[in-house]
Amino acid sequence: MSTHETASPDTPPHAAPHAAPPATPHTAALTEEEWARRLTPEEFQVLRRAGTERPYTGEYWDSHVQGVYACRACGAELFRSDEKFDSHCGWPSFFAPLAEDRVEYIKDETLGMQRIEVRCAGCGSHMGHVFQGEGYGTPTDLRYCINSISLRLSPSDVPSADASDTPGGAA
Ligand SMILES: [Zn+2]
Repeated sequence: MSTHETASPDTPPHAAPHAAPPATPHTAALTEEEWARRLTPEEFQVLRRAGTERPYTGEYWDSHVQGVYACRACGAELFRSDEKFDSHCGWPSFFAPLAEDRVEYIKDETLGMQRIEVRCAGCGSHMGHVFQGEGYGTPTDLRYCINSISLRLSPSDVPSADASDTPGGAA
């Protein structure tokens, strides 16, 4: 019943290259009952009810760990630490997703605001919102304001303190 509308063309401007609407059904779709069993109540409230965690309370808003942020609901890789920046807004902020086809954009007019909701393209779970033109000086001038609780960080291989200083890693 409650099919959400897919992204309309007026999604972020840089999202143009592969602007084909993500009309594919969510590969990781479960019923809300199944999600409720799989997720904690806090996760469910944000991921499946489009809730928002309180700022400065999530585990990643101030994280500088290198790695990949995956959807906490389905595990799809959505963001990277490479695109994360310090917005000081209290939520993890990215200037771009890992790839445009990893997320979908939904027009959100709740709370009397015109916002663009960001969802996981894999399972349709709520991630946060994307804001534009705030002057953060990032390459895209976009801020993907994402709930920590919607994400799970997989740190990249941290070189262990003792061994394996493999040569040839020069950039
Ligand atoms: Zn997902």
